[in-house]
Amino acid sequence: MNSIKQWAHDHPMARLAGGVLLLVAVIGILAAVFYKTTAQEVVVLTSEKLAAEPAVITDYYTYGTHLNVTGTISDEKAADVKTVSLQFQPVKSEDLYEETPAQTAAVVSAEGETITFQLSETITDGYCLEALPKGEYVALLRVVYNDGTDSFYTVKDGSEVEAIDYYTITQGGKNREITTEFDAQEDVDFWRVNCQNESLPDDVYDIVIDPGHGGADGGAEANGVKESELVLKSAQAMADALEDAGYKVLMTRETNWDSDTNAAYNMFDEDGRVNLVGASHAKVALSIHANSTDDTETSGVQIYRTVKGDSGLAQLLADQIVQNTAVDYNVMTGMISDGVYVRTLSASDIRESQADAREKGYTFYESATTDTDYYFMIREYGQRPTGAYVDGRNPDYGKNLYLNANHGVEGILVEMGYLTNSRDCLEMKNNTSGYARAITNAFVQWVKAQTAEE
Ligand SMILES: [Zn+2]
Repeated sequence: MNSIKQWAHDHPMARLAGGVLLLVAVIGILAAVFYKTTAQEVVVLTSEKLAAEPAVITDYYTYGTHLNVTGTISDEKAADVKTVSLQFQPVKSEDLYEETPAQTAAVVSAEGETITFQLSETITDGYCLEALPKGEYVALLRVVYNDGTDSFYTVKDGSEVEAIDYYTITQGGKNREITTEFDAQEDVDFWRVNCQNESLPDDVYDIVIDPGHGGADGGAEANGVKESELVLKSAQAMADALEDAGYKVLMTRETNWDSDTNAAYNMFDEDGRVNLVGASHAKVALSIHANSTDDTETSGVQIYRTVKGDSGLAQLLADQIVQNTAVDYNVMTGMISDGVYVRTLSASDIRESQADAREKGYTFYESATTDTDYYFMIREYGQRPTGAYVDGRNPDYGKNLYLNANHGVEGILVEMGYLTNSRDCLEMKNNTSGYARAITNAFVQWVKAQTAEE
């Protein structure tokens, strides 16, 4: 038997006792979850398949559009676990879901009577929040055993993580807000997930466009073109095109300062680009650059994404730039797929930073390893999920104020082409509209794929 009973506000028991006392009447008969959905009603979920003890979440975060959750389940049949999946159980549904709607399968391991689960080992995967319909839910974990039987677990908080407050990407002028909250009534713990229509607050954006360099930092310079000026013009066209497509866009800088005091250039200042991106709650931040090298024949687009994620959006960006401009894929050692790259700290990068730390008298970043993203626009914009570490200990640097935030912005570095290659340089100078169309097409396609995902 799997059933959810609802007492309306005017039920005599509800009126008499309110939420908490009402629970006492039913608890003990079956493992049960109770939650008050609104001020008007108390909803009770009961099932013999619900385990008495909740699963414990040890960590969770959003990165880009996905929620990832890690935790443990204490289960005497742990050795026989086949799969674990997370589902959002609508408060108003009649049955516990067994086959539908789609559940997100977790990566699982078992030891003794403990199951450890993680929704995804890749930070760009997990549960896609863009696909969550409007409604009120409780998170449940469904454990399926090798013999085909199953049980359901509610979820308790064992993390020290902030609640999720996620806004979906603007679609047709509309957004939904997804909030999470751990709750408990009597002895029953549960994780509430609410999704409702809500327009974006002033300080929340869909996407950030970050024109690289600026101020005293002109970036590369070749063929009479200064990178900081070129990318600003390109970024402005991209932001305009994305806005025309209906998205809310934040630019990290909108002018070319000629002093070194501008905030975006001093990236870790309180209002520097790292903290602007962190505050934006955007899903994606594209950092726009133009490449350079000694070899004037080297050309093509390079897209860098986090080593901890997948190439979904990065590949769309590379493909669209090739389709909409005369620039081809750059092909270099280490390329993951057409025009897509990752770059991590090398052993010598780490040695240099360690020497610098010793010289300045601070403890080296313990989390900086050869698996850590090299570019701050990827690592620091991604915050905790990407292993951001700039915490102010280096006296020459500011601090990423969102270092420990569990809402990582998917940072992607776009090297549009090579300034040092005359054909690429000309194309970047003359075809800003092609680049703007490419970035917009890629984002639109990516958003569409997110929404279809379950
Ligand atoms: Zn650059």
